[in-house]
Amino acid sequence: MAYYHDNTIIFLNGAFVKAAEATTDYYSQSLHYGYAVFEGIRSYQTASGETKIFKATEHYDRLKNSAVALNMPYNWDTNELIEATYALLEKNNLQNAYIRPVVYAPANMSFNLNNESYLMIAAWEMGLFLGEKLIRVMTSSFQRPNPKGFRIEAKASGHYVNSILASQEAKAKGFDEALLTDMNDFVAEGPGANVFFEKNGKLVTPPTGNILPGITRATVIEICAEMNIPVEERLFTTDELKQADAAFFCGTAAEVIGWQSFDDVVFPTNWNDTLGRKIQLAYRERVTEAALVSEK
Ligand code: PMP
Repeated sequence: MAYYHDNTIIFLNGAFVKAAEATTDYYSQSLHYGYAVFEGIRSYQTASGETKIFKATEHYDRLKNSAVALNMPYNWDTNELIEATYALLEKNNLQNAYIRPVVYAPANMSFNLNNESYLMIAAWEMGLFLGEKLIRVMTSSFQRPNPKGFRIEAKASGHYVNSILASQEAKAKGFDEALLTDMNDFVAEGPGANVFFEKNGKLVTPPTGNILPGITRATVIEICAEMNIPVEERLFTTDELKQADAAFFCGTAAEVIGWQSFDDVVFPTNWNDTLGRKIQLAYRERVTEAALVSEK
């Protein structure tokens, strides 16, 4: 996929520059050791025609928290970055977009602290996911990183080696995506999304602690509160998940995506009759600021 063309603009350390002309340092600690933090954000064309970045404050606050968790200097202001991101979208003529800020380190081949960080924000076109496709998910042979070895609540680049291994393994085995367990063999999350399952009219999702606390996960919990759908945050095993009525992943990029099967066990409830489907529609209405189905 081409993420940029000759005229694409990125935001680089406070300036708007052409992606094709921007340079980076091959001696960066980020490139060699995965020592960087990033965000995955989306903007949508809303019902009124305006462009809106969904949960912009939450994402830029998490970027800051991720940088602080990794001892990276971080002096950017959330509101200024949101403003810069809107300008970036406009300069690139984007409405439905994926926005990727990354905070990275200067040249440093040691493990020592840096006294500055760099920030790049890129954006490219990404349309609304319509949710027709259901995915086949398998239990990964890879576990999520142990929270005693990493700051797992941070969205750190290095963690994504684990995600890449898990996702590539699932695809090599003919599945669409992987589900990873934590170091105690409880279900944790997907390579880039949080998981919920439905059983007897209730939703269950792993608690924070061994997962990335997803902004979409929090939005799903908010939607459930508004729609009077009970949600339990608790640990569970892959065996319990196989007994579920239905399941879905949620994340900024994936939005809400239903599962057809897990380790080839097909879920009994038709996706269109699940709580996940209701939430998928409510989520879509929320990001596009259309009238809420939940209020009808
Ligand atoms: N877990 C992991 C490992 C992720 O990479 C993501 C995507 N950022 C999520 C969960 C979902 O997070 P969010 O809803 O904030 O995009």
